[in-house]
Amino acid sequence: MWSEMTKYVFVTGGVLSSVGKGIVAASIGKLLKARGYSVTAVKIDPYLNVDAGTMNPFMHGEVFVTEDGGETDLDLGHYERFLDINLSRNNNITTGQIYSTVIEKERKGEYLGQCVQIIPHITDEIKRRIRLVAQETQADIVVVEIGGTVGDIEGLPFLEAIRQMRIEEGFENTLFVHVALVPILEVTGEQKTKPVQHSVQELRRIGIQPDIIVARCRVPLEREAKRKIALYGNVPEDSVFTSYTVETIYEVPLILERQGLGSKVTSKLKLENRSPDLTDLEWFVSRLKKFSRKVVVGMVGKYTKLKDSYLSINEALVHAGTFANVKPILKWIEATDIERGKLTPEEALEGVDGIIVLPGFGRRGAEGKISIIKHARENNMPILGICFGMQLMVVEYARNVVGLEKANTTEIDPKTPHPVVDLMEEQLKIDRLGGTMRLGAYRIDLEENTLAYSLYGVKSIYERHRHRYEVNPKYVDKLVESGIVISGRSYDGRVEFIELPSKQHKFYLGTQAHPEFKSRPLRPSPPYLGFLKSMV
Ligand code: GLN
Repeated sequence: MWSEMTKYVFVTGGVLSSVGKGIVAASIGKLLKARGYSVTAVKIDPYLNVDAGTMNPFMHGEVFVTEDGGETDLDLGHYERFLDINLSRNNNITTGQIYSTVIEKERKGEYLGQCVQIIPHITDEIKRRIRLVAQETQADIVVVEIGGTVGDIEGLPFLEAIRQMRIEEGFENTLFVHVALVPILEVTGEQKTKPVQHSVQELRRIGIQPDIIVARCRVPLEREAKRKIALYGNVPEDSVFTSYTVETIYEVPLILERQGLGSKVTSKLKLENRSPDLTDLEWFVSRLKKFSRKVVVGMVGKYTKLKDSYLSINEALVHAGTFANVKPILKWIEATDIERGKLTPEEALEGVDGIIVLPGFGRRGAEGKISIIKHARENNMPILGICFGMQLMVVEYARNVVGLEKANTTEIDPKTPHPVVDLMEEQLKIDRLGGTMRLGAYRIDLEENTLAYSLYGVKSIYERHRHRYEVNPKYVDKLVESGIVISGRSYDGRVEFIELPSKQHKFYLGTQAHPEFKSRPLRPSPPYLGFLKSMV
């Protein structure tokens, strides 16, 4: 029973961003969940975008899509995978959402007579949204991660709001965890704690005293570094932990538990400290470390320089690899290099066992991807196409097998004589780009006796989506006559899965969906698992 007494763990960051604050937040959630508590997690992004959907993945990493169609920060993916729960769009709060709600209320006259200000109006709206998640999920604990680092101008209203929440919810019901980088000097090997000291000071200056400090460091903190952080950070030494570098992120909860973080959190929150059950992660991590063989997966995309652009796909491969008993080694293939003639498809696919044609948008790199698909198809190399990747598989097949010269998707060539992939009809009326794609989970019905059906083993599945274009229904007959099998359709008839029969190709599967978003360590996504298995 939810007692209306949800507890909050607030996670802030210092010194640098991208040091794994999201993983620490997810790990804390995992340690609580392992003790039998119900946990959810919220990511706060202090930027002005309403959601992550309009940002370039090269700037911000992947856009993570929730079941209910939220286009959210990639940390929600970590939370879902670590906590094995489905989150909603409400679990990602941005400055854009907060301000637009407050301004709309002001225009409606809801603050009549008042001067609308950051404190209390913006901070009240922040608190309302955090509490809404508690109410809707009825979780025992909500882990709230504040994006960015302490000291960022955009982050201030959020820090002010959580400072207030400590007073309003009570000390026993709130916990402040600060995660900050401890660099190591290359020459002397010394662990430098000064940056952490400064970021804690900055937090205290605005009224937040962290209860727990998690140092992010390449190796475990030495006694002296720990002592200094405790002294200057104003916390007992046993409240300083290290998130040191480990082989896989799934090990982080385990190393933090070994240091006693789980019982420290429960004791500070005055929760019963039950003994944790982490056997699932322990099993997963031990399997991860003893793969019998490796396969090389060619990752064909255009944002390949920032690995986070395709984070959920990387993770889906890790999960699937554990079950297929192979270690997938990723070879990033930059499609624009092929297009510019820097590399031929043969050269790009040298040593590659199978390819994933990655999701994406727009013209740049698309012809490069198409020529790689052709080469892989003609050489019986396993191909898994995700969303845009599947659409380009259809374009390649239409051009080179069906014989429709210049076939294309209208996203790349609006004037193509053969628009085998075209804008979905309802998209024609849309004039705003934010949040207007076909988003979230939709039912897909699979055709029996197909590869897709054999992978999932059930007739109806739900996968998440994020697209505006689809296989043009007018070309389906032509594609099918030339050998393409439509193995999955949405409940309303859209093409969701295409494939070639196993007699013709070892593994040729494309999907309009993004199955990677639902992959979990102990429940690998069927298409990714099948793809890896086809290579061993
Ligand atoms: N650009 C394509 C579309 O909008 C595919 C999007 C994607 O790969 N997520 O349909």
